[in-house]
Amino acid sequence: MHSGPAQAGHELDIAVKCCICHRVQIEKRWLTELPGRSRDRIYSHGYCPSCYQEAIEELSLCPMAWP
Ligand SMILES: [Zn+2]
Repeated sequence: MHSGPAQAGHELDIAVKCCICHRVQIEKRWLTELPGRSRDRIYSHGYCPSCYQEAIEELSLCPMAWP
């Protein structure tokens, strides 16, 4: 069974923002930051797919970075 409590009611607008290129993921697409609408949005910093790939490759060159 995989049924958690439904998060109805207060829905926060959380967007993932790439900390490298500063694009924002909106509905599974990566867009440059929307002007004006960012006040209602909560940003969670992460990587977009292309920057994530670059970060992984950089990390793989530096084994000490892994825990
Ligand atoms: Zn990026």
